[in-house]
Amino acid sequence: MSNGQQSSSAIVVGAGIGGLTAAIALRQIGWSVTVLERAPIIAEVGAGLTLWPNALSALAALDLDQKVEARGVRTVSRGNLRTPRGRWVRRSRPEDVGVLAVHRAELHAVLRSMLPESALHTDAEVLSVDGRTVVCRCAGEEHELSADLVVAADGVNSLVRRTVWSGSAVFQGRTAWRGVTPSGSVWPVEESLTLGRGIQAGVLPLPDERVYWFVTANAAEANREYADEQAEVLRRVGGWHDPVPALIRATPPDQVLHNDLVDIDPLDTFVKDRVVLLGDAAHAMTPDLGQGACQAIEDAVVLAAALADSDLDSGLAAYDRVRRARVQPMATAARASVRRNSNTGRAAHLAMTLAARLVPPAKWRAMTAQWSDWAAPKLP
Ligand SMILES: Cc1cc2nc3c(=O)[nH]c(=O)nc-3n(C[C@H](O)[C@H](O)[C@H](O)COP(=O)(O)OP(=O)(O)OC[C@H]3O[C@@H](n4cnc5c(N)ncnc54)[C@H](O)[C@@H]3O)c2cc1C
Repeated sequence: MSNGQQSSSAIVVGAGIGGLTAAIALRQIGWSVTVLERAPIIAEVGAGLTLWPNALSALAALDLDQKVEARGVRTVSRGNLRTPRGRWVRRSRPEDVGVLAVHRAELHAVLRSMLPESALHTDAEVLSVDGRTVVCRCAGEEHELSADLVVAADGVNSLVRRTVWSGSAVFQGRTAWRGVTPSGSVWPVEESLTLGRGIQAGVLPLPDERVYWFVTANAAEANREYADEQAEVLRRVGGWHDPVPALIRATPPDQVLHNDLVDIDPLDTFVKDRVVLLGDAAHAMTPDLGQGACQAIEDAVVLAAALADSDLDSGLAAYDRVRRARVQPMATAARASVRRNSNTGRAAHLAMTLAARLVPPAKWRAMTAQWSDWAAPKLP
């Protein structure tokens, strides 16, 4: 612990997956933590999520892997590939890397349950950061709070990053629709990823006979909204193979989520003085590798391990070094995947499907395990 005998303290900005995991990890090494979340209720909206073995290793360091595992379904990601007409391009193999598919809300609930209510403050929007002090509008009133460390886990549009660093989210010319079907409405389903030209659809089974689906597609302009998002996504993939259209139709229209795919340019450092960036605030990446939340979870455990091992300055320097080296090449690779996935050319599409069909299983595993072969440091 960095303050000798006295307990160190942190303000965590944002109660997303990154902020909550950071709060749990810091408490595990004996810090006192205050989480400030601008939303009136701490809850994750959103659809499904795949957690790769690296994230499960980080959750194990917090003794949370089994709790999360109990809320998920073991499956593969990108193991079964199909064409829009339903032809199988590739079938999953025993060698494929396994992932855990979870509902975001359920992962979030597990994380929340590990923190005392007194550590979590909703309706608490951070308005500014100066050194280790933040100004927060809590339930309509402005307050100043200080701690040894400010952990900015306030997402891709992070106010902390935009003010203490600089740089906004970068639109990557892609947009995504997501949803989860009601229990049993379309069941059973098999995990699959369908490769269209410039458009892909994913299907992942969740517990209780629910299904997480997503569609990612090229988008000429950012922030485009449709009066009926469900109709729009059906317009694009309504003629695709079963069960893709059925899953979209089964999802209550008001629960069809639509977001553009954005990331950020790499930062020179994740640490300035006593402010540290974590999760999407530090390294938002497009979801093409399915690693954004996994990396936020890794960040949290590595930060706590680094701070447990040394004084605050050295711990933060170690976090900065280790995390940028790991996550920035990944974000670059995700951007490169965007370019591949957005290519509408017939030849490029053919090359992509042929490669998927011909790559030997061991090489496929090596490619997908490139980012997920990672073991978390131990926490005291
Ligand atoms: C379509 C899609 C699919 C994805 N699929 C996967 C996947 O399968 N696997 C995976 O690992 N990742 C996936 N991701 C990425 C993943 O969703 C993100 O990387 C992850 O949610 C980031 O978590 P975070 O806690 O850093 O940020 P966020 O979840 O954005 O949380 C930030 C929190 O900060 C709060 N906040 C913001 N500003 C303030 C402020 N000023 N004051 C107080 N609070 C504030 C927000 O309200 C929010 O609660 C996907 C992303 C998308 C878009």
